[in-house]
Amino acid sequence: MLTIVMYHYVRDLRRSRFPDIKGLTVEGFLGQLDYLQKHYCLVGMDRVIGACAGDAGLPTNAALLTFDDGYVDHYRTVFPILFDRMIPGAFFPPVNPVRHGRVLDVNKIHFILAASPDKRELMDHVIARLADFGDRGDVATMQDYVAKFARPSRHDPAEVVFVKRLLQVALPEDVRSTLIDELFRVRVSADEAAFSMELYTQEAEWRVMIGNGMHVGAHGAEHYWMDRLDPADQEREIGESVEFLRSIGANPDAGWVMCYPYGAYNHALVDLLRRRGCKVGLTTEVDVADMAGRDPLILPRLDTNDLPKTGSAPANAWTQKVLAAAHV
Ligand SMILES: [Zn+2]
Repeated sequence: MLTIVMYHYVRDLRRSRFPDIKGLTVEGFLGQLDYLQKHYCLVGMDRVIGACAGDAGLPTNAALLTFDDGYVDHYRTVFPILFDRMIPGAFFPPVNPVRHGRVLDVNKIHFILAASPDKRELMDHVIARLADFGDRGDVATMQDYVAKFARPSRHDPAEVVFVKRLLQVALPEDVRSTLIDELFRVRVSADEAAFSMELYTQEAEWRVMIGNGMHVGAHGAEHYWMDRLDPADQEREIGESVEFLRSIGANPDAGWVMCYPYGAYNHALVDLLRRRGCKVGLTTEVDVADMAGRDPLILPRLDTNDLPKTGSAPANAWTQKVLAAAHV
C-alpha cells in the first residue's frame, strides 16, 4: 500500500502578508512529519516509479509527500526541512507562472479572498460588476446566481462560496478572467509579474532542489481542468510540461509523473500520458493507494488535513488501515 499525502501552501501564516490564506503552518508541517516518520516509511518518487514498473514492492506503510502548484513555500520552507530529515519529496509546479511571470487564476482567487476581510462587501462588489454584463445571453441574472451559489459549504460561509463558484466556474471564461484580473489588481497587487516572483519557486531554485534529490513532475502549463480540454490542447499542455521539466534539469526520458490539476483527467488524457512515457499519475481522489491491480496513472491521495499534525497523536483511521494491512 502507498499513502500519498498532498500539500499546497506551507508557510508561517501569522507572520505573512496574507494570514487568511488557507494553508498549513510550519509547526503543523513539522508535527505532521513527526507523525509520518513514526508510523510510515517515507519513500521517494523513484521508488514509487520502480514499484509501478514492477521492479520491487513498497513497504505496506510506504508514504510519499507531494506538493502541488509550485509555491515559493516549497523551496523556502519545505525543502530545507525535508533535506534536513533526508526525506525525498515530490513537487509539481505549473509551467506558466514560472515561465511568463503570471499568477494562476486559482491563486488570484485565493488572494482576493485573503485580502478582503469583509466577505459580504466582496460579494456585493462582484454583484455590482455583474450588472455590467447583464445584456449578455450567457450571463444569468444576479438573483439566479445568488439563489444557486450563495449557500454555506462545509468549509466556507455563503459569501465565500458565492465568490469562489462564480469566479472559478459559473461565469463564462472571458467574464471570469476580466473580473478576476480586476479584483486582483484593485485588492491584491497591480504588478502581477512581481507578485508571481514572490509567490512561486523559480527555475534556478527548482534546479537546486532536483540537484539535491527532490523529484519535480508535471502539473500542466496553465493549470486547466484537463478533462475539459480537447485532445490537441491536452497534447500542447503535456508537451510544454515535459519540455519545462527538461529545461530545469529533470530527466523526463527516464519516466516522469503527472499530477492532474484539480485531480481532473479523462481516458483520452490517460492514453496520451501513457504514450508520452508518463509512469505515475496523481489524482485528488481521497484514499490510500492499494498498488496491486491499480492503474499507476490514476493513484489516489490523502490531503494533509486527513492526517494528524503532531507526532504524539494516536494513529488515525487512515493510518490504522495501513497498519492493519501490514499485520495480515
Ligand atoms: Zn494544482
